[in-house]
Amino acid sequence: MAPGGAAPGGGVNGWPIPKAFHTKWAASGTVSTCSLVAVSTPETTTATNDPDLFDKVVNLSKRRGIVFQSAEIYGGFRSTYDYGPIGVLLLRNVKDAWWRSMVQERHDVVGVDTAILTPPAVFEASGHLANFTDPLVDCKKCNERFREDQLDDPTTCPNCEAVGSFTEARAFNLMFKTQAGPIEGSGADVYLRPETAQGIFTNFMNVLNTSRKKPPFGIAQIGKSFRNEITPGNFVFRTREFEQMEMEFFVPPAEASQWYEYWCNERYQWYVDLGIPAEELRMRPHDADELSHYSSDTSDVEFLFPWGWGELEGVANRGDFDLTQHAEHSKERIEYFDQAKGEKYVPHVIEPAAGATRSMMAFLMSAYDEEVVNDDTRTVLRLDHRLAPYKVAVLPLSKKDTLTPTAHEVFDMVKVRYQADYDETQSIGKRYARQDEIGTPYCITVDFDTLEDRAVTVRERDTREQDRVSIDQLPAYLQERLG
Ligand code: ATP
Repeated sequence: MAPGGAAPGGGVNGWPIPKAFHTKWAASGTVSTCSLVAVSTPETTTATNDPDLFDKVVNLSKRRGIVFQSAEIYGGFRSTYDYGPIGVLLLRNVKDAWWRSMVQERHDVVGVDTAILTPPAVFEASGHLANFTDPLVDCKKCNERFREDQLDDPTTCPNCEAVGSFTEARAFNLMFKTQAGPIEGSGADVYLRPETAQGIFTNFMNVLNTSRKKPPFGIAQIGKSFRNEITPGNFVFRTREFEQMEMEFFVPPAEASQWYEYWCNERYQWYVDLGIPAEELRMRPHDADELSHYSSDTSDVEFLFPWGWGELEGVANRGDFDLTQHAEHSKERIEYFDQAKGEKYVPHVIEPAAGATRSMMAFLMSAYDEEVVNDDTRTVLRLDHRLAPYKVAVLPLSKKDTLTPTAHEVFDMVKVRYQADYDETQSIGKRYARQDEIGTPYCITVDFDTLEDRAVTVRERDTREQDRVSIDQLPAYLQERLG
């Protein structure tokens, strides 16, 4: 079939009419009351504790164009990373999966995209100027700096093993400050946001007045955040520039604890639905001494990284702290008037705040697998199809001109629906291995028989099973498997 041509059996470009999307309605008053205990898992050792897993994933990331050290040609910049041709697709798919489940499939959440550069007044009100600090200690012997709260033994330097060599802890503000405009001076100070949430709070009334939503409803945002972390590390787990996926859910005060439980369950389930096994995830409620003064409850979704449990996302019941602070500092009215009840109130906020880059790393770690096939070790990323960077790869068996037109025809057919790769270099075995390593679910091989029978070989990533499929049937075949 020619690109753009009419398809036998209807549809567009050979594609059947898509199935209706599944829609999730979480009506007010029908929130889940599932207990957190139900989603907690015991601290068991799993495959992610492979001592070499971390190095293997970092090496794969560099070798296959997932993540590169930033400014590498100048020796590298330890605290930021660049996403390569495969990584940019994987990260985008993580963000798309979040947006789909948090915005597209809900009637009660809308999105925004707010500015990164933020005036100090916002962080004065939010408390970030005064309180967004980590306790910093210096070792007087080797001059290394550490976060005191992350030291296993606060008396011994993990770098040089000196005992009692630390300075008194100092509160170190994690926000990056810069200057806006050509005139320097304190009046020009601005900050790079350390979280996306404040842009949501400062726009609460704008969204309320323009979106025709009323509590309970949410405002979601995906974007870059910046923190001058004292100890960045563990690859993209902790960087100074990273991406967040945050949603502020505004609710009538009396419904706050129900919605908190609801969002804890939803957010835990999101990672499970996208393929992370339950034994590699847990929901950890914060102890009383970890809670911020305004939060009545916070739980973290944690993943079992090779070095132990690490936070992917925090779900917090923040009360009315944020909106009240911004109302007081801006002197603006920030509240909701419930016409049916004839009463005004400041909504309470439930905040699920996730890291996009950190979650991407967890999906990578969890999907990484090795298996021995015919005495060779095959590396395969068993990513959920929705996260796979390429859904399909088109591989002409040889570079010979005779196969090229049909291979291009197949690529043109699949590219309208799926992110697809086209690769005609090296042996077919090496090309399969490369696609397995980047998690491509289906490889389509065009061979010399294709010229006779108008059929291609489709190889599935996880089982390596192959089907012979006629080109005309390819859209339906792929749609059944990839959606
Ligand atoms: P941590 O305790 O790891 O410093 P946090 O509790 O300060 O994290 P939040 O402020 O709750 O993190 O931010 C929400 C999410 O943003 C985190 O769960 C994490 O996934 C992500 N995140 C926070 N800081 C970083 C960072 N420096 N690098 C990458 N992701 C981050």
